Amino acid sequence: MNTERSSELFGKAKTLMPGGVNSPVRAFGSVGREPLFIASSRGDRITDADGNEFIDYVCSWGPDILGHAHPAVTDAVRRACDNGLTYGACHEGEVILAEKIQSHFPSMELLRLVNSGTEAVMSAVRAARGFTGRERIIKFEGCYHGHSDGLLVKGGSGLLTGSVPDSAGVPAGFTETTLLARYNDAGSVLSLFEQYPDSVAAVIVEPCAANMGVVPPKDGFLKALREITEMYGALLIFDEVITGFRLAIGGAQEYYGVKPDMTVLGKIVGGGMPLAAYGGRKEIMEHVAPLGAVYQAGTLSGNPIAAVAGIAQITQIERTPDLYSELDRKAGILENAATKAGLNVNRVGSLMTIFFTDNTVTDYDTAQTANRTQYAKYFTYLLENGIYAAPSQFEAMFVSYSHSDKDIEKTAEIIARYRKEN
Ligand SMILES: *Cc1c(COP(=O)(O)O)cnc(C)c1O
Repeated sequence: MNTERSSELFGKAKTLMPGGVNSPVRAFGSVGREPLFIASSRGDRITDADGNEFIDYVCSWGPDILGHAHPAVTDAVRRACDNGLTYGACHEGEVILAEKIQSHFPSMELLRLVNSGTEAVMSAVRAARGFTGRERIIKFEGCYHGHSDGLLVKGGSGLLTGSVPDSAGVPAGFTETTLLARYNDAGSVLSLFEQYPDSVAAVIVEPCAANMGVVPPKDGFLKALREITEMYGALLIFDEVITGFRLAIGGAQEYYGVKPDMTVLGKIVGGGMPLAAYGGRKEIMEHVAPLGAVYQAGTLSGNPIAAVAGIAQITQIERTPDLYSELDRKAGILENAATKAGLNVNRVGSLMTIFFTDNTVTDYDTAQTANRTQYAKYFTYLLENGIYAAPSQFEAMFVSYSHSDKDIEKTAEIIARYRKEN
């Protein structure tokens, strides 16, 4: 594989941006090679700067559920550009998109559009604190909620005690109010509430975890969170940045039948543009400015082009009645091939991870038993055979509607062949 141009670009990028990237996972650090620079994408394929083409299972980490550059989305964006890129004022697209989101997520009685999942989570947590008048939040080890200070908490560091920042530059005081529980362990949540019965504003959770690799919730886990939070007067926040519009059109809350107080959306909702949303019960969201005292604002929030992309993508999802059954069928083919080859797979719908460990992965600790060196080898094998998978063991493989049966079969074959040869 010739990667001369990517290599050249990476060399220059490193002189301009930390590590040559604008988001760390892109640097391919955990698979020990230089990243590819992508020049274009269409359907289930991406093409790099040297003209190498790959079947893509990153799909921009989720947004491209219909495949890359779906014409319904790109055409809508192209047309919208003629009306201007940003106004910093109200416009009809915001109303249409908000109404669409709400029709699929009725728990979001009031919602706000922002620019990234990080911003949406940060704002949702602020609203939860403003509404409840409480300061603590509970998150789960291995769940990712963006890079805002209070949520960058080290996993595996003293469960049930004060949390330690997982990044330099985060003052200890900023994570003091973040408590850490174990995923799929409602008992760990209950003990935190017993310790702090009156000061927890919210429990925030990825209803199906996908940022320690895919780790589905055990039966009853989400329901238990619903009951415990209600019992202690705290809010339940579903971070559906990945699962929203992916597990079902109404996200994990529809898929698992558990209704949160607040929801965070990102990735798919913006159709590939920088757009995210947070919302929830009316009485909570009425605390957000200008109605209430919780401040949150944004120059580009609800950006007209991003809104158009979101509207077009959701409309296309609505018009594709076999979307979720097809995603499930296609991902199922990959799962079967991997399982048959003796690999350890976690899958929910179109989200899956092959874990290089013999343990059943149900939480952060079991995920951490996965062998990163073996994953790096597997990743390289796939890449050299024309398949672009996540450059880290602890990420999901995303299947899109545009993955053709032929490409799925080819991928299944290569995964099986890898196993045979290694
Ligand atoms: C990607 C992600 C975020 C952060 O979204 P950004 O748009 O990258 O800021 C938050 N929560 C979850 C579950 C995510 O997967």
